[in-house]
Amino acid sequence: LFLLLFLQLMTKNAQELKVLLSSPKKIVITTHKGPDGDAIGSSLGLLHLLKQLGHEVQIITPNEYAKFLHWLPGNDDVITYEENEVEANKLTSEAELIFLLDFSHLSRIATYADTIKISNATKVMIDHHQDPDREIADIIFSDTSACSTAQMVFEVIEAMDMTNYLNKAIAECLYVGIMTDTGSFKYASTTAKTHHVIAELINAGAENAKIHDLIYDNSSATRIQLLGYCLNEKLRLYPENNAAIISLTDEELKRFEFKKGDTEGFVNYALAIEGIKFAIFIAEKDGMVKLSLRSKGDFKVNGIANKYFSGGGHMNASGGISELSVNETIKKVETIINEYKSELNKSN
Ligand code: 5GP
Ligand code: MN
Repeated sequence: LFLLLFLQLMTKNAQELKVLLSSPKKIVITTHKGPDGDAIGSSLGLLHLLKQLGHEVQIITPNEYAKFLHWLPGNDDVITYEENEVEANKLTSEAELIFLLDFSHLSRIATYADTIKISNATKVMIDHHQDPDREIADIIFSDTSACSTAQMVFEVIEAMDMTNYLNKAIAECLYVGIMTDTGSFKYASTTAKTHHVIAELINAGAENAKIHDLIYDNSSATRIQLLGYCLNEKLRLYPENNAAIISLTDEELKRFEFKKGDTEGFVNYALAIEGIKFAIFIAEKDGMVKLSLRSKGDFKVNGIANKYFSGGGHMNASGGISELSVNETIKKVETIINEYKSELNKSN
């Protein structure tokens, strides 16, 4: 019954959206700050659909994203709010339709939120995070069980009966979104549906081997050396509590010529150690201390990210920030590990 209601809502939303898209519109697509593969992949995938339908489309991200995503088709159609505030404000105030992709609370788009709030555009959210703020959009596609927003964009295209518009550009972008948010199709969120969608994307022209290579096997030597340094020198293990921390200071990042995106995935190495259920990566970036929290099984990290680090995310993958120094943040995390001791030692 629940599934039936869910599908009905999907169909109703998709029909409503299809009507909105039946005449040319000025459209803005935005996504969360520190955009990752799913944020950019889903935004660009949607852009390539909307352009074919004759709309004027601009993607505005709160800030810049990793270079390993810059090869994606349509990358030049993206501007950052941080670097183009005046233009972004103008485009947003003129937009008739705004898509909010891969986030569920306006706090995720930083200062751009003020501009979004005062816009009169119809807003459409497509997202897979917990507890969406239903006040911020008029049409809400929310599926917290979906592996990625990119998969949801595919499902929305399907529900609007528009799969005939799928092309290589859409396929490559959505493939990247699904691949990066599922850890290359290995997380529990990966379903038979995910693999069906991927098959459709490959049919539509996504070159899977090329995409994996461009995203994962195209690092600078210094990035791989930074990874080696983290694993050799910066890994703190708490085997009695099944936890591990990796941390990096600004000085260390500079030493390895850090570029945005270079530390993506590092936290997963800590989680790959036998027995480790809770892994924390801490790094000093842009004058702030950022945390990435990962877990296995039913140890939930989004509550911890929210309670202690003004953040949030998914059950097994969350993030947040710390007001403290790197060293003090490590101490705080150690306290948290201790506090969750019994939960971390539960066998499951
Ligand atoms: P990452 O560790 O890769 O930066 O983020 C993992 C996940 O945590 C993201 O997909 C996002 O859902 C969530 N996340 C990361 N940083 C923040 C944050 O500052 N606030 C909130 N609410 N969620 C975050
Ligand atoms: Mn996502």
